[in-house]
Amino acid sequence: TEHYGIEKWGAGYFSINSTGDVVVTPSGADNGPSLSLHEVAKEIEARGLSMPVLLRIENILGSQIKLLHETFRKVILENNYRGVYKGVFPIKVNQQEQVIETISQLGKTFNHGLEAGSKSELIAAISMLQNRSACLICNGYKDEEFIDLGLYAVKMGFQVFFVVEVPGEVDLIIERSKVHNIKPAIGFRIKLSTQAEGKWNESGGDASVFGLTMSHTIDALDRLRAEGMLDCLQLLHYHIGSQIPNISDIRAGAMEACRLYEELVLEGAPMGYLDLGGGLAVDYDGSNTNSNSSRNYSMEEYCSDIVESIITVLDKNDIPHPTIITESGRAIVAYYSVLLFNILDISSFEPPPIPDKLPVVDNDLLENLMLTYNMVSTRNIQECCNDALFYRTQARQLFKHGGITLRERALAENLVQHTLMKISKISKELDHIPKDVQKINKLIYDIYYGNFSLFQSLPDVWAIDQILPVMPIHRLNEMPTRPAIISDITCDCDGKIDKFPDISQEKTSVMLHPLKDNEEYYLGVFLVGAYQETLGDLHNLFGDTNVVSIHVNDDGSYKFIRELEGDSVADVLTYVEYDIRAMKNRLKDLAEDAIDQGFISARERKSILAIFEEGLRGYTYFEKE
Ligand code: PLP
Repeated sequence: TEHYGIEKWGAGYFSINSTGDVVVTPSGADNGPSLSLHEVAKEIEARGLSMPVLLRIENILGSQIKLLHETFRKVILENNYRGVYKGVFPIKVNQQEQVIETISQLGKTFNHGLEAGSKSELIAAISMLQNRSACLICNGYKDEEFIDLGLYAVKMGFQVFFVVEVPGEVDLIIERSKVHNIKPAIGFRIKLSTQAEGKWNESGGDASVFGLTMSHTIDALDRLRAEGMLDCLQLLHYHIGSQIPNISDIRAGAMEACRLYEELVLEGAPMGYLDLGGGLAVDYDGSNTNSNSSRNYSMEEYCSDIVESIITVLDKNDIPHPTIITESGRAIVAYYSVLLFNILDISSFEPPPIPDKLPVVDNDLLENLMLTYNMVSTRNIQECCNDALFYRTQARQLFKHGGITLRERALAENLVQHTLMKISKISKELDHIPKDVQKINKLIYDIYYGNFSLFQSLPDVWAIDQILPVMPIHRLNEMPTRPAIISDITCDCDGKIDKFPDISQEKTSVMLHPLKDNEEYYLGVFLVGAYQETLGDLHNLFGDTNVVSIHVNDDGSYKFIRELEGDSVADVLTYVEYDIRAMKNRLKDLAEDAIDQGFISARERKSILAIFEEGLRGYTYFEKE
């Protein structure tokens, strides 16, 4: 049966059990406790929460933090590196309170800190970080208030680093720290010449809008020296992009940054910390290659390339090894969330069967089409493809000019579709499939309508063609027989998933199962924990989905630890400035007027108002009766 590449992108967290359900193993270990996602979906619905649901599996966060720290620790030991690793989680990757709270809690033993890129994120970080030994990195453009907030955090004993992003910030940091009489720990974000491959490569290189150029760096350094504050310069920061697919870019970035680090030490700054930003990629398509949705390295290679690069550059002049900081975001949170939704309907590619007898018409269109259909074989596949498409154009022309009826046109289109399906099927026997037939093969799919909004829940799929693993979470011991694409329920033709992970090539459809009567068909979109939640929008007024968090216990049992009800219709209307009370009053007046006009009865008015009221309270997605 079809495994959808789960053994590749699942990273040990997701797999298929003997009864054909997707199971989650939050420890990632072969023998760890695991849980069927289908069972969880049914339990969620039994509690009255409708699909779509964003399911968070809390322990996966802990597992990923542990994995990152243990891998760095191992590599540091193996290489006799004389420094430690301290990670921070960049809040922007998933700002949800529950996520930050869980990371602070589970990261405590590893001193895993937080990174804030705005005032709001800094306030969230200060209120959530429970550990004064963890780092609090302040990136982003900083005004006086931002710096003051950070300085107060220093006063309260937090390890705060003010990272200078733009030249003007140095003076403001100097001024505010004098006002508060605090010696701040300062970092420079430097614009590296190294540019990574991938979709986010403009974070680095000359085109980057962030960071100090070489001469800005010298100016900032001289300003600190002039103020007697060079001893505050402790950190070098860079970030050359998120989801860096190629390990050689990671190594090149680290080597360049270490040369800069060395120069800052030689200039007399104490330094001590090297912050390599984000970039540790997630293998979304499971290909383990340098494709944009993957990475051609393991976490261990990532850690050891960083450690080795630092040693190679800094040992030449006996520069002490710095504390390594990374701001890994997606690698920490991506695995943690799964979007679950049900399929509402299918629009099948398959036309109705060919009738035994063709109707008699006064042209030979239908006969020619029938002939083409019967003729298809491996030897004449291109010719039949040309003919079928030619007759389809002819049928459409004839219809436009009144030459055939609607029923005759429908039959002609059906015959074309049968022919294309036959061509597609037979083409699988060929070693070389002609280009035109390849195109046809890509167009033969059913449309499965999923109860979700791509724009709300998977915005990167729409905005940047992100490939995410999508698959049924049950029936996996049955062979799926239908090639499909998945449409959402917004009225937007971009609201569809039509690119799927594949090891060898870009896949434009996915095999799914036919629907069964009286049985829901559930799909999951995996690895959606990073960036998707807050980047989502209210297109067509579909709001936040229900969110359910679970914790899997060591004995395989699990508990629901939190549920957040998604937006109601009234919620989303309020977001776009509707006044619900005024709306209700208007409807009351409208219905009263309809009685006056004799359109409806008083009883009907009552029913209309009741359904309006119920609609406002309801979920924005498709609800079962
Ligand atoms: N740090 C900075 C400064 C960033 O801009 C980003 C994201 O682009 C990150 C960290 C997180 O990157 P990632 O999610 O690839 O780890």
